[in-house]
Amino acid sequence: MQRPTPAWSTPELQTLRAQVTRFFAAEISPHMERWSERGYIDRETWRKAGQLGIALPDIAEEYGGGGGDFRHLAVVLEEGGYVAEAAWGVAVHAIVAQYLAAYASAEQKRRWLPRLTAGEWVGAIAMTEPGAGSDLQGIKTRAIRDGDALVINGQKTFITNGWHAGLVIVVAKTDPSEGAKGISLIVVETEHCAGFRRGRLLEKIGQSAQDTVELVFDDVRVPADHILGGQPGQGFYQLMKQLPYERLIIGVRAVATIERALELTLEYVRSCQAFGKSLFDQQNTRFELAEMATEAKIARTFVDRCVSDLVAGKLDAPTACMSKWWTTDKQCEVIDRCLQLFGGYGYMREYPIARMYEDARVQRIYGGANEIMKEVIARSL
Ligand SMILES: Cc1cc2nc3c(=O)[nH]c(=O)nc-3n(C[C@H](O)[C@H](O)[C@H](O)COP(=O)(O)OP(=O)(O)OC[C@H]3O[C@@H](n4cnc5c(N)ncnc54)[C@H](O)[C@@H]3O)c2cc1C
Repeated sequence: MQRPTPAWSTPELQTLRAQVTRFFAAEISPHMERWSERGYIDRETWRKAGQLGIALPDIAEEYGGGGGDFRHLAVVLEEGGYVAEAAWGVAVHAIVAQYLAAYASAEQKRRWLPRLTAGEWVGAIAMTEPGAGSDLQGIKTRAIRDGDALVINGQKTFITNGWHAGLVIVVAKTDPSEGAKGISLIVVETEHCAGFRRGRLLEKIGQSAQDTVELVFDDVRVPADHILGGQPGQGFYQLMKQLPYERLIIGVRAVATIERALELTLEYVRSCQAFGKSLFDQQNTRFELAEMATEAKIARTFVDRCVSDLVAGKLDAPTACMSKWWTTDKQCEVIDRCLQLFGGYGYMREYPIARMYEDARVQRIYGGANEIMKEVIARSL
């Protein structure tokens, strides 16, 4: 099976892809086992990505980024999917940088973005709390004005990149008497930050090399102008505005993973014999693979279109939600069917399909649970 070239690809993006492939082969894949046991990647890996200009490929060159657009980030996400890694939290890092690029002041961008593009700092976004995930309006974290400062108190959970994060965008209530209108996004620099604490490194059933942690904010003081957009109460609107980007990131990753699962499965069934012929020659295997290859193509065509639309500023929120729920449901379904074709070997960790199975499950939960995606879509009908 020929790996598809995305409809949005260009010779320049192909060159980037070759560079990213080399990065994954040299700097990520050899360490996956060690990182999985420990629960987080090496800090140095971020700096190496930064040196190559691939930590934030879609941020402007004036801030040290790759100077590209979403397609450049998509190349990095896809290559991660093709080596079946779920360790390097580049997607969340990119999401954080997008918020800064869109809402920070010129001076703040000059202060924060170069550190993120260099991989000197790792970015995290802290929305979810022990009692508030899908229903973001229920958050309890407060950021209350005190003179020139904001004082943040609260607890966040399930925070990707939290272990290494040098900059965290905290979703907090600046006006607790309001619902959505009382929410703001506040930047916390974690270095030497009194009252900021990393809690437990959470043990997950998959993506075990990627850090997911609890964060605690105990009277954390930040300058009042660390509210993104300058004014309080814009957080909910800003989150809604950025969601197509975040959701498409997940969709792009899902498609590459589906394609990789099919490649691995084809390779396996062609090499394996049962009942006097190769597994590939059994009718069930052929039908399974034919169906899955069709779905992979549908997913690729749809998501490629979404990528082009996002780059053109035309991707609407419901369509982005469609790409997120459908591709991640398919990812889980296809990997499960592929694993079945491996038989018992598919259940063994030494086979990448087993790890892909574990890693895939959360795609239907984070970035907005798939049920929430369907709510957003239904509201638009
Ligand atoms: C590995 C991992 C990494 C994560 N990284 C981050 C991160 O970096 N930053 C961050 O802020 N958060 C992060 N999250 C949190 C993630 O975004 C939330 O888990 C997710 O939004 C769901 O929230 P919840 O867990 O509180 O579940 P709940 O909101 O309690 O929902 C539970 C289930 O109820 C159903 N449900 C909820 N609401 C509705 C509804 N309105 N209609 C129909 N069904 C509904 C859905 O099936 C949903 O899965 C991460 C989570 C995981 C597991």
